[in-house]
Amino acid sequence: MNITTGEIAQICGGALYGQDAAVNSVSFDSRSASACEPTSLFVALCGQTRDGHDYIETLRQAGARRFMVNRRYKLPTLGKDESFIVVEDTLKALQSLAAHQRSLLEGCVAAVTGSNGKTIVKEWIAALWDDASSRLFVSPKSYNSQIGVAVSLTMSDPEASLSVFEAGISQTGEMARLREMIDPDIVVVTNIGDAHGANFSSRAEKLGEKLILAERAKAVVYCRDMEEVASAIEKRYAYKKLFSWGYSAGASLRIKSLSRDSKGTHLRIETGGREFETTLPFIDKASVENLLSALSFYACLDKVTGSARFIDALGNIGKLRSVAMRLEQHQGVCNSVIVNDSYNSDLSSFSIALDYLSLLAASARKVVILSDMAQSGYTRKELYAKAASMMKSSGIDTLHAIGPDITASKSLFEGLDATFHNSTQDFIASFDRESIRDSYVLVKGSRSFALERVSRLIELHRHSTVMEVDLGAMCHNLNRHRALLRDGVKSVAMVKARSYGHGDVEVAAALEKRHIDYFAVAYADEGVLLREGGIKTPIIVLNSEPSGFAAMIEYGLEPEIYDFDALDLFCDEVRRAAVSSYPIHIKFDTGMHRLGFTPDEIDSLVARLKDERAVKVRSVFSHFTSSDTPEDDEFTHRQIELFSSMSSRLRDGLGDHTILRHLSNTWGIERFPEAQFDMVRLGLGLYGISPFIDDLRSVAALKSTISHISHLPAGSTVGYNRRGVLSKDSVIATVPIGYADGLRRALSCGKWSFKVGDAEAPIVGNICMDACMIDITGIPAAVGDTVTIFDGSEDIVRMAEVLGTIPYEVLTSISPRVKRVYFD
Ligand SMILES: *Cc1c(COP(=O)(O)O)cnc(C)c1O
Repeated sequence: MNITTGEIAQICGGALYGQDAAVNSVSFDSRSASACEPTSLFVALCGQTRDGHDYIETLRQAGARRFMVNRRYKLPTLGKDESFIVVEDTLKALQSLAAHQRSLLEGCVAAVTGSNGKTIVKEWIAALWDDASSRLFVSPKSYNSQIGVAVSLTMSDPEASLSVFEAGISQTGEMARLREMIDPDIVVVTNIGDAHGANFSSRAEKLGEKLILAERAKAVVYCRDMEEVASAIEKRYAYKKLFSWGYSAGASLRIKSLSRDSKGTHLRIETGGREFETTLPFIDKASVENLLSALSFYACLDKVTGSARFIDALGNIGKLRSVAMRLEQHQGVCNSVIVNDSYNSDLSSFSIALDYLSLLAASARKVVILSDMAQSGYTRKELYAKAASMMKSSGIDTLHAIGPDITASKSLFEGLDATFHNSTQDFIASFDRESIRDSYVLVKGSRSFALERVSRLIELHRHSTVMEVDLGAMCHNLNRHRALLRDGVKSVAMVKARSYGHGDVEVAAALEKRHIDYFAVAYADEGVLLREGGIKTPIIVLNSEPSGFAAMIEYGLEPEIYDFDALDLFCDEVRRAAVSSYPIHIKFDTGMHRLGFTPDEIDSLVARLKDERAVKVRSVFSHFTSSDTPEDDEFTHRQIELFSSMSSRLRDGLGDHTILRHLSNTWGIERFPEAQFDMVRLGLGLYGISPFIDDLRSVAALKSTISHISHLPAGSTVGYNRRGVLSKDSVIATVPIGYADGLRRALSCGKWSFKVGDAEAPIVGNICMDACMIDITGIPAAVGDTVTIFDGSEDIVRMAEVLGTIPYEVLTSISPRVKRVYFD
C-alpha cells in the first residue's frame, strides 16, 4: 500500500488528527506482528468479544503510530509522529478503504464463492498460474469475511495481472457489501452445501444471496451438473458470459471420460472444440471437482481477456498435492490395511476418506473407526444421520464408534454392524484384533480423541520418529521479516542443506506460493531436486563447483562466482550450451575470508566482464561474519561500508545499476536496517529462531514413540559401557531414535530429557546408534505413547547450548531418514 493517513481520512469520510503520514499496511489484530509497526494503520474494530480500542495504548507503547478509531474513543494527547483517523464506524471505513484499493487494481479480478472448497479452488488457481513475467495476487488463507476481504484488498498488488479473492457469507445482506469491495470481473461458484446454515431459511435463499457477488461481473464459472445452481445462474445471468463444466451436454468444459487408479484420476475433457487428456494427482470426488473449477476458471479467463493460460494451467496439474493422496496408508495387524486420518473430523474430509477407502478396498471388507465429529451448521442428529448415510452408500461393513456424542446417536446407525464406546480407552480395552482380519480400516476422528493410540495398536512398521514442520509458522516468520524491509527490497530464502534440515520441495513450494524472489542452495544437486519438484523461482547455487556447471545450466540454476578460474570455466560451459547472458552472482570477500573477490581484484573483474557476452551479472553480494554479536558491530559497520564501495565500483565499472546488491542475513535484517541494499538473504529467521525478535513462531518439532518398557531394580545398568547406573528401582523406556538420526551422542547420561506427556524423562546411559533409553519412573506412560525430543525454537536453542554449538547445527544434523511431516 502506498497511501497517507490524510488520503485515507478523505476516502473514508473521517477526520485526521496529527500527522499526514505514510501508511503501508493495515492491521486489525493487536496480537499480529505488523500491528506494532510505525507505518501500519491499526484499525480498531469492535467485535463481539474484543474491542480493538482497548489495545491502542499498549500498541502505542510498542511502537504503533497510526490508528483508525470511532468517534466514541477519547483521543489521547498525540505525539508529534502520531496520527488518528476518527470515523463513525471503523468497519465501514475499512471497507471504503478496501473499495478504493480495488479501484486501483489494473488486472483481472476474480472471486470464488460457494459452501465448500473456496480456499482450495483459490489456492489451486494460484498453483496453476504459470507466468513468471506477470504478477498474481491471492488473498491469504481463508480471508473471506467482511473483515478478511477488506484486509486482503489492502494487501493487494495494483500491478497484478490477476487478483483472486474469496467471498464467504453467513447471513443475508453480507454479499452485497463484499461485492462492493471486490467488484469481481469473474466469479467462480464452487458448490452450495446441503446445510443452509442458521441464518438462511432455505438453500434457494442462500444460493440467491451468493449469486449477488456476480451482479456486475462479466463472467461466471460453475458446474453444470449441479442442477439447482446451474439453473439459478443461467436464469439470472443469461446475458453474461457463462462458463460451465461437467458431464452435461452443453457444458463449456465437458468431461468425456473419467477413471481412477492408484496413480490418480485420469480425465479426458473437451473444451473449445479441442480434446485434452490429463491425470489429476488425487482420486476423491471433492478434489476432482475443485480442480475442474480451477481449470475452468482459466479457460474462462482466456475467453474474457484473450489470454492463453488454460494450456499452461493444464501443464501444471502435476504440481498439485492433495490431502487425499496424503492420507497415510499402512500395513496393519492380521493382514489388514490401515488408512489413517486422525487429524480432521468434519463431513467433507470424512467423505474424501470414505471415497479413498472404497477405492483401495474394492471388494474387501471395509471397517471404519470413527470418533465424535466436529462440524458447525448441523444439529447432532443431522450430522450423524449424514455420516451414517455416507457410510451406507460407501458399503462400509463395520463401524466402531468412539465418544459420548456418537454413542448417544446410536439409533441413527441402524442397519450398520456397529459397536459404540464412550472413550478411546474403552475401545482399546475391548478391541479384538481378529475383528479386522483381511479388512481395509479407516481411522478417522478429532485430535482430542487421540486415535493415534488406536493406529499404533493396529499398524505394523510404523515409522515412529518424525520431524513435524509447521509451514504456516514459517510463512508467518517470512512475513515478520518482510515487514522490516524498506519498500521494494527483495528477499532470498536460504533453503540450503535441505532447508536447514526442514525438508526440500515442500518448504520451497510453500515459500514460492508467498512469492519469494529467490532461493539459495549450497550445491547444484540441491537445486536440481527443487526444479524436479516443480519450483520455478530463480535459484542461486552458493558453492558452485565446476563439476556441476553443466547441470546448473540445464536446470536454470544461477551460480555464485567467487574467483577468476570459476568465471572462465563457467563462461566456457555457457558457450558450450549455446546460450548467452546467463545470470551469475558475484561474491565479494568483505571480511569472512572464505570465498570471494577482494577489493584489489575489482578492476580486473570489471575488465574481464565488460565485454563478456556469455554471462550477465544479476547480483553482487557478500556475507556478514558477526551480525549477531554486538561486540563486533564496528567490524560489521566496516563490512557494510566496504561492501557499499566495492559494489558501487562494480556497478559503475559495468555501467549497470540494475545489478542487485545484497549483504544481510537474518540477523543483519534484524539489526542493521541500513544494510538492506536491494535484497536480503533470510535463513534461520524463517525457521523461527532469533534472539532479536520475540514473536517468531516455532517451525520444527522432533517426536518419537516409546517402543518398549522395562522395570529394573536398583543397581542395574543401562546401555553401552554400562553408563546408566540406576540408584533406585526404575522404569526405563526405549525410544527408537539414536545418534544416526541426529540425536547427538553428547546428550547421553541425562544431558537432555524428552517430554512424556507433561513430564520430563532424562536420557539414561549412552545414546545408541538407532535408539536410546529414558527414565520414566513415576510417569504414567505406555508403549506407543509419543515422546517429544524437542518442541520448537526454545528447545532447539537450549539443546544447542547443552551441546556447545549453534541451532543451525542441531537442525541440520537431523538425519534425512527421519520422516518430515508438514502442516500448513
Ligand atoms: C546461510 C547463509 C545465509 C543465511 O544466514 P542466516 O544466519 O541463517 O540468516 C545468508 N547468506 C549466505 C551467503 C549464507 O551462506
